[in-house]
Amino acid sequence: MTPLEIIAKKRDGLALSSNEIAHVIDGYVRGDIPDFQMSALTMAIFIKGMDDLETASLTREMLHSGTTLQWPKDSPPQVDKHSTGGIGDKVSLILAPLLACCDLQVPMISGRGLGPTGGTLDKLESIPGFRTDLSVPEIQKIIADVGCVITGATNDIVPADRKLYTLRDITATVASIPLITASIMSKKLAEGLNALVLDVKYGSGAFMKSLDDAHVLAQSLVRVGREFGIAISALLTDMNQPLGKMVGNVVEVNESIATLQGDGPSDLTDLTLALGAELLVHSKRANSLQEATEQLRQRIADGSGLEKFQQMVVAQGGDLDAVRPVTLTSDVISQESGYVRSMDAEQFGRVVIQMGGGRQTITDKLDLSVGLELLVRIGDPVIVGQPLAHIFSNQEVAENITPRLLSAIQIGQDPVTPPKLIVERIDQ
Ligand code: URA
Repeated sequence: MTPLEIIAKKRDGLALSSNEIAHVIDGYVRGDIPDFQMSALTMAIFIKGMDDLETASLTREMLHSGTTLQWPKDSPPQVDKHSTGGIGDKVSLILAPLLACCDLQVPMISGRGLGPTGGTLDKLESIPGFRTDLSVPEIQKIIADVGCVITGATNDIVPADRKLYTLRDITATVASIPLITASIMSKKLAEGLNALVLDVKYGSGAFMKSLDDAHVLAQSLVRVGREFGIAISALLTDMNQPLGKMVGNVVEVNESIATLQGDGPSDLTDLTLALGAELLVHSKRANSLQEATEQLRQRIADGSGLEKFQQMVVAQGGDLDAVRPVTLTSDVISQESGYVRSMDAEQFGRVVIQMGGGRQTITDKLDLSVGLELLVRIGDPVIVGQPLAHIFSNQEVAENITPRLLSAIQIGQDPVTPPKLIVERIDQ
């Protein structure tokens, strides 16, 4: 079939065969199929969808468009976590070293922030010297020596996704379940994993605004993972308020270190342990989620998680003793008394972009020192004059963003029940 016939078939709502999918992905990566044909196909997929078989074929072809990481036969299980992204989500920085303390290896290939949600690589780059551009042999060496690594994708890992994602971004075809599934899973499978846990977020600060959409995405990701024979599960988690208190780059690194010291916010600690417990059970390092959670809690209590984080930072060229500047300039003061009713979490991410700490376009340069600390959570009682947030930025910017922050934190008169953080577990 020609590319034109394949596009027409999908336009008419018919399922594509694995050969047809292989033909278009291969042709697109080699440059034989032009962007205008590929964008017609992605729009047809966006509108007509794909069944499980097609989604798995698309994932496979994208995965095989480049190199995959290979591990020695006798190495510990390779595991990873993927989050669909949220405000203040710094779980990776805490979880990777904790898992590496439990005889697991974590070759975490992560991304940069674009839009309101921050990126793990940007956060880590606020540690002076920290490198996120490791080569495949460097990744393999750090995994063998330390057990965990957090770095960016090399050019030859899933090149099809880089090309396709750029195209989807400018053709309004990002928000398609099969395209998102293939994009995420091809990159995760390229790490050569034995087990994967997914943190699929929903709410005002998440990519998926509704629980129903997050549910459908989680099921699609889990089904593809199973098709590829890895142990996989997903947690559906609330993102109607930031995870932890800090939103930004250096401030999130500092909060991650505090969490590894046993001094982190409870929501961040609980979610990190819950995600890690899934991987310990998947990898048969624990018999139950409860036992696994205890093991991980112990790695915080005995300081081994923090020590592992320090080893990873050193292995990636970073210096944790070097100064990481943060400027506290002002507080956001409550104008009302009552209870925190809701938060527009996405606004916090947008405010960080306005302060220069996040990207509007992929080429934006970041000021890693700016950020926010949220001092209240949904359901908390507040009184007039109470600080609701700290702003880390220069004075002029702080004055500009204060009204936005005040309107993002809604206060009502009636008591509010705090939302549940982990709403559901999906494993098939
Ligand atoms: N994240 C990804 O990696 N890919 C998508 O398509 C959407 C979110």
